[in-house]
Amino acid sequence: NHLAVSGSSSFHESVGGKVPLGLRRRQLRVLVTGGAGFVGSHLVDRLVERGDSVIVVDNFFTGRKGNVAHHLQNPRFEVIRHDVVEPILLEVDQIYHLACPASPVHYKYNPIKTIISLLIGTLNMLGLAKRIGARFLLTSTSEVYGDPLQHPQVETYWGNVNPIGVRSCYDEGKRTAETLTMDYHRGANLEVRIARIFNTYGPRMCIDDGRVVSNFVAQALRKEPLTVYGDGKQTRSFQYVSDLVEGLMKLMEGEHIGPFNLGNPGEFTMLELAKVVQDTIDKEARIEFRPNTADDPHKRKPDISRAKELLGWEPKVPLHEGLPLMVTDFRKRIFGDQEESTE
Ligand code: NAD
Ligand code: UDP
Ligand code: UDP
Repeated sequence: NHLAVSGSSSFHESVGGKVPLGLRRRQLRVLVTGGAGFVGSHLVDRLVERGDSVIVVDNFFTGRKGNVAHHLQNPRFEVIRHDVVEPILLEVDQIYHLACPASPVHYKYNPIKTIISLLIGTLNMLGLAKRIGARFLLTSTSEVYGDPLQHPQVETYWGNVNPIGVRSCYDEGKRTAETLTMDYHRGANLEVRIARIFNTYGPRMCIDDGRVVSNFVAQALRKEPLTVYGDGKQTRSFQYVSDLVEGLMKLMEGEHIGPFNLGNPGEFTMLELAKVVQDTIDKEARIEFRPNTADDPHKRKPDISRAKELLGWEPKVPLHEGLPLMVTDFRKRIFGDQEESTE
């Protein structure tokens, strides 16, 4: 039941044929940088399903071809191995800019590369958007609030960020990416959108990326102890990936620049999260305490009033429903199909 027709010569053309007039939408060409990663690949699924032509640009640092392999035979899909730190010439209508390592383990691995990707990579994608008149959406992060002194975090809060710490390459990189985005909007009249994404989980997350949900799930499945850092009383709010993708698309299609918090306000301590993982996978799973990492934010919870009001968006999937969907995927990837059916 596609509302768009492939092979249209102009992507700004209305779609003709038998689709009722009121339902017609133009087919878009959409660039997703970082589209072979966790969030990007789920976004690509929805865009392709909607009938858009999708180009993925990814350097496969943390992404995998397998995440988008199911689209490779589709003539409206293309993947380009490319690092956004280098300029690129493409013609598209919309740019979702996700390319950037997202887990603390990955972004601290080469912090200089991380901040360069955020500065130069975002500059290049903004320059591209300016040249072709595309709408540009930046996937920023709740990390722009640092170790927040306001709780829950509202978009008007400016944050409490250490500029010289081990997380700064990511936090300050994203803050500068937001600045660049707003300066291109003000200076070059570019249409921009900014999403501040809170902790998101789901199928296709890297199994060993060190984030807490992927760690706990993989550990419980492998019968290893769940590693709780610090006293486990720090909090995060966990959003299922399909909710995020819907929010990103509503933001891109809507009239508001943002920034918008996109996250699930359901707040959990790490010990509570461990309990949910135990209940879902293995009630006998042990907990092992480890020293916490530097500059770890004590609490984090989005105020999503702005997104509710202006985008008509709110998350629908609570943790106890989303987690089993991720567990099914992790089980398959860790043990293979055979083991899964005997579990
Ligand atoms: P991910 O690591 O799965 O995806 C990032 C993708 O970007 C990968 O495919 C990677 O190979 C690619 N990439 C990295 N550097 C690149 C470069 N220089 N050039 C081209 N491609 C590059 O992470 P994710 O969770 O899917 O995150 C996607 C975006 O959302 C990131 O920008 C991240 O900062 C943001 N975000 C995610 C979360 C979350 O909880 N998942 C929270 C806040 C913000
Ligand atoms: N850029 C790109 N693709 C384009 C247009 C620009 O990668 O289609 C890059 C360009 O190489 C530059 C950056 O985007 O490094 C910013 O471009 P802009 O035109 O805004 O700045 P200028 O090139 O004038 O400094
Ligand atoms: N954490 C944990 N055990 C792990 C990995 C992380 O207790 O195996 C904690 C970490 O200290 C932080 C929280 O979980 O307080 C979320 O960490 P994550 O890396 O998932 O995301 P962040 O929100 O810090 O970017």
